[in-house]
Amino acid sequence: MTDATNDDWDERDRAARSELDVEVDPFGSSTPMKNGRLNRPGMMVKVSRDGSPVGWVSVYEQSEEWLLETFKIHVFKEYRFNKALHEVGEYQPRWGLFLMEELFAQFPDKEIRESQAVNDPPGFAFVKRVRGEYALPYHQPECFRAEEEQCVCGIGRRRSTTNL
Ligand SMILES: [Zn+2]
Repeated sequence: MTDATNDDWDERDRAARSELDVEVDPFGSSTPMKNGRLNRPGMMVKVSRDGSPVGWVSVYEQSEEWLLETFKIHVFKEYRFNKALHEVGEYQPRWGLFLMEELFAQFPDKEIRESQAVNDPPGFAFVKRVRGEYALPYHQPECFRAEEEQCVCGIGRRRSTTNL
């Protein structure tokens, strides 16, 4: 692949990103419901394009205010990464990546951790790309479980301590 191709793809990525509209909807509450159950507070980051939904990711607030945990990542079928296209070297907008970039952009001062649940349908390969190829600081499910500073993935508490 030549640099010219990469530049072109960067340009097309930028164009695709600029087509997206982002909405953040809070849900739940830290006040217990009538039956005493807690409907944990969270946010849903939704990305759409020309009014049609591309995907969403839900995150829950954790007991530490600097920590969020993703619950579900959903990318609508027509916007999922097509490996076959990728293998023949064709450009395709990485909508799943753009969704995750928006999640991190919305909460610049929080650490964001993957849930212990399976994030299907994007699946493990996607989450791996989020960390690897896309280099987003997405903590592994094991991070910060036992104690605050226990980040096992090696990213550390970069984001949440930036403004201290
Ligand atoms: Zn970590």
